[in-house]
Amino acid sequence: MYCGSGLGISTIFAEKAAELGTVLAQNSHGVVYGGSKTGLMGKVADAVLEAGGEVIGVMPTHLQKREIAHASLTEIHFVESMHVRKAKMVELADAFIALPGGGGTMDEYFEVFTWAQIGLHEKPVILYNVNGFYDALLQLFKKMLEEGFIRTEQKALIRVATTSEEVLHLLKEHK
Ligand code: AMP
Repeated sequence: MYCGSGLGISTIFAEKAAELGTVLAQNSHGVVYGGSKTGLMGKVADAVLEAGGEVIGVMPTHLQKREIAHASLTEIHFVESMHVRKAKMVELADAFIALPGGGGTMDEYFEVFTWAQIGLHEKPVILYNVNGFYDALLQLFKKMLEEGFIRTEQKALIRVATTSEEVLHLLKEHK
């Protein structure tokens, strides 16, 4: 799960992050994420734990203070760098979901999206477009397709959900 280390202005983001955490736990999906208790990251983790699910955090030691590690995760890995964090998260996860977030979330999303494009993994990469947050990005994807920078056969890799049920459906579809 990739999402903002902040909460965002609108409360809808936190509401939907928590709802997704609950729905995932209720459907026996564990969550791997950055290990922080701040922002949407913390909301997802709290909701999964409250619903009895499993949460694995992966946090670089240099961020430990700034992002404030979540104290009650099922498991937490402390790693030496951002690169190791991202690699560890990719190794542990069976699928990737990006909720609204900032540059960090986009970096993580595009890394796994582009790795799927070049065949480095076959795990689904899902953009959870809460409240139209990613509409502008979807416009850009459309342009990239139209102008030939994303190939037609790669279009299927752009998986978009607008509700937590759709996220669940995309996960099941892939299984
Ligand atoms: P953000 O979406 O910017 O709030 O960041 C969400 C998560 O991505 C946080 O756990 C950040 O530590 C992480 N992050 C921030 N910047 C980067 C980056 N350049 N590369 C990878 N992860 C990052």
